[in-house]
Amino acid sequence: MQEGIVNSDSNYCFGEGGAGTYSDGKLYTRSNKRGNVNRIIDVLIHHGANEEIRIDSHPHIGSNKLPKIIQSKRETIQNCNGEIHFEKKVTDFIINQNKINGVIVNENEEILGDAVILATGHSARDIYEIFRKRELAIESKSFAMGVRIEHPQALIDSIQYHSKTRHENLPASNYSLACQVDNKGVYSFCMCPGGIIIPASTDENELVLNGMSVSKRNSPFANSGLVVEVNVNDWKHLSMHKEFAGLMFQKEMESLAFNSGGGKQIAPAQRITDFVSQKISKNIPKSSYVPGTVSSPLHDILPKDISRRLRKSLIIFNQRMKGYYTEEAQILAVESRTSSPLRIPRDRETLMHIGVSGLFPSGEGAGYAGGIVSAAIDGERCAEQAFNFVIK
Ligand SMILES: Cc1cc2nc3c(=O)[nH]c(=O)nc-3n(C[C@H](O)[C@H](O)[C@H](O)COP(=O)(O)OP(=O)(O)OC[C@H]3O[C@@H](n4cnc5c(N)ncnc54)[C@H](O)[C@@H]3O)c2cc1C
Repeated sequence: MQEGIVNSDSNYCFGEGGAGTYSDGKLYTRSNKRGNVNRIIDVLIHHGANEEIRIDSHPHIGSNKLPKIIQSKRETIQNCNGEIHFEKKVTDFIINQNKINGVIVNENEEILGDAVILATGHSARDIYEIFRKRELAIESKSFAMGVRIEHPQALIDSIQYHSKTRHENLPASNYSLACQVDNKGVYSFCMCPGGIIIPASTDENELVLNGMSVSKRNSPFANSGLVVEVNVNDWKHLSMHKEFAGLMFQKEMESLAFNSGGGKQIAPAQRITDFVSQKISKNIPKSSYVPGTVSSPLHDILPKDISRRLRKSLIIFNQRMKGYYTEEAQILAVESRTSSPLRIPRDRETLMHIGVSGLFPSGEGAGYAGGIVSAAIDGERCAEQAFNFVIK
């Protein structure tokens, strides 16, 4: 973070525990009907999360606690005779007569198996490339894109608690905002009270932002994604890439943000008041973002339809949270990986890929989850189906 270097195999998205390990650890989910949320919570508590997550309405673990929980989960897997293979990157599948027989790792090592659960997350672009190369079914899907917005936490507290200062017994306050602008949804995403903005890029020459917070949520900043729904109409100019056009659009924005920041993961930033009046900020407020920020004309840099909707939404959100629209707040670009731009299609009942028997696409990267709990629930469902498939 401090040197602005991205290791493409080990970063906030890739490595032990995946994106969840250094995520914010908010466990709130709307996936109650898809599976047993309480069981997921119990597993987390068993591996070291605080008991309170069982009763909190918006449970939160915190980025400082998650890595230890993940290590403890690894020990459970190993105690059950599971194996963990670090530094083994899946580079191809072994498929014979439309049935998967294992994977190739590090270009030439085979790992054989009767079933493969593919849960490589929304940033594993090399995995999507395998689908393209092998002409396996994959579909484009809509997602959301925009910026990270950062306010002083004290300001958000004063708005939410209707009080000049926050009582010492009250937690850093959060918010959730959504509206329709010109027939598209604009909404806050992954709000981190008392948190920091981080570079979640997975490759050099791209810039992707996200947010996290430690369990105490005690940074002086409040940040949140502020995103607009994007779909096939936004990437018409890339239609030659077919199903991969949305992914190319995402890449386009990430490299634009990287270049606008001038490299080393420095983020282009703008005061929101200047963004709405479409003028460059003479200076920008202090930010939690460690690699640094540089004043940039984001109103011009972002695609016109996203920029216009974000500008209008800020005025609407200020009617819901008086004081939200303030020159003390700034936006940083780009928040581009809210969910996967692709879906790997699978059978509704068996959860297997529609063209490859024994292959179970799972979690966020396959397009079936949007957060920690939904990915966990989907993983459990796939594991059960894979077990049934192998036993038969
Ligand atoms: C900074 C940040 C904050 C977040 N905060 C929250 C939050 O507060 N609440 C919430 O619900 N969600 C949050 N999320 C999202 C959440 O982390 C993801 O939705 C969730 O982790 C998705 O789980 P997954 O198992 O589908 O994939 P991932 O967690 O992305 O895991 C994918 C795994 O696959 C591995 N992999 C990738 N390619 C290969 C390959 N070729 N070979 C072998 N292995 C490979 C990766 O190394 C990784 O370990 C956050 C994400 C980030 C980045």
